[in-house]
Amino acid sequence: MKTIRLKAGKERSLLRHHPWVFDGAIDRGRADPGETVRVESAEGRFLAWGAYAPSSKIRVRVWSFDEAERIDAEFFERRVRAALGLRDRLAIDSDGVRLVHGESDGLPGLVVDRYGDTLVAQFGSSGAERHKALIADALLRVTGLRRLYERSDASVRQLEGLPPATGWLRGDGPTECVIHENGWRLSLDVAEGHKTGYYLDQRDSRRACAELTRRFGWGDVLNCYSYTGGFTVAALAGGARHVTSIDSSGPALERARRNVALNGFDAARCTFLDADVNASLRAFWAEGRRFDAIVLDPPKLAPSAAHLERAARAYKDVNRLGFKLLQPGGVLFTYSCSGAVGVELFQKIVASAAHEAGVEATILARHGGAPDHPTGLAFPEGEYLKGLVVWRRP
Ligand code: SAH
Repeated sequence: MKTIRLKAGKERSLLRHHPWVFDGAIDRGRADPGETVRVESAEGRFLAWGAYAPSSKIRVRVWSFDEAERIDAEFFERRVRAALGLRDRLAIDSDGVRLVHGESDGLPGLVVDRYGDTLVAQFGSSGAERHKALIADALLRVTGLRRLYERSDASVRQLEGLPPATGWLRGDGPTECVIHENGWRLSLDVAEGHKTGYYLDQRDSRRACAELTRRFGWGDVLNCYSYTGGFTVAALAGGARHVTSIDSSGPALERARRNVALNGFDAARCTFLDADVNASLRAFWAEGRRFDAIVLDPPKLAPSAAHLERAARAYKDVNRLGFKLLQPGGVLFTYSCSGAVGVELFQKIVASAAHEAGVEATILARHGGAPDHPTGLAFPEGEYLKGLVVWRRP
């Protein structure tokens, strides 16, 4: 077993069970990609077992803080079982569920989603990559399922020095799935979609959108960054008269159309725009168009803290346009999935957007990732999705 010795004083975050060791904290020791290492303090005290990543700034990701624990097949089965045990108790109204959410489930770099009888995994760290076969076996054993598709094509793999890898790891068959979320049917393709095919983290926000559509009785809803139409279906299910969906991805919109049909809604109640959101919102403003409710769920505009200033401006710009297009008494559902933009900063951005748009507004609800995307208390970096439901006072 190889040992990684930290520099003096660099053990503090590990003692608080934060799961990362940065390259700068290491005094000596090295290992192969994904190899299990013993991390110890400058005084030689045991701190953690972790996976070594030679080319990543996050040089070690911790598997366990328990010196007696062995990182073997049973270890992965225990962690997967614990993660699934939690999901079983969350009463999730869907068969599309995030089963493993990386560090926050004690499995750094590993993301596993279930879509009906299909599992999709992202091996985003050298450690997860090295133990891929053990992890795949544990997933099938614990879930009783037979199909596991690999979607290890996220950009984090590059930081770990790992090439992209996609395809069936276990089982095979069609990559298209239909899930049942909040009583709706939604199709997705695990081989082609964003993430593992679908944005499971917004499940509860979509349900809230359907409920508020029903209670407010909205006529015209605008869904910006619609992807495959999750919020579009939600608003239609809530009784919206017409929903306009904007996305810059043609294939995503094609699927959104199919998802509307899959739920039996009349296509005449929908408009799909393959366009840039900013440009579309400006055009709507010029045309004098207004909406009863608007969803703004942009992609991650701040990939890291270094992009914060530019991202904050981008969030403010699109939110200002959103507020301007809202009817008095209308509601804005606005989100940010940038981890670098905290809850407080996001609220400030949205507040200044409202101010610049000249509207008075009130927060009706705060949204976050669905509960199958938990955040480890010792791992605040895991927190990323935040949303505000804001009412434009008449
Ligand atoms: N709300 C969706 C998820 C949105 S993901 C859901 O519930 O499933 C963000 C989407 O923004 C992606 O589909 C991406 O194609 C789209 N997108 C990114 N930049 C865009 C732009 N400038 N204009 C329009 N759409 C954009």
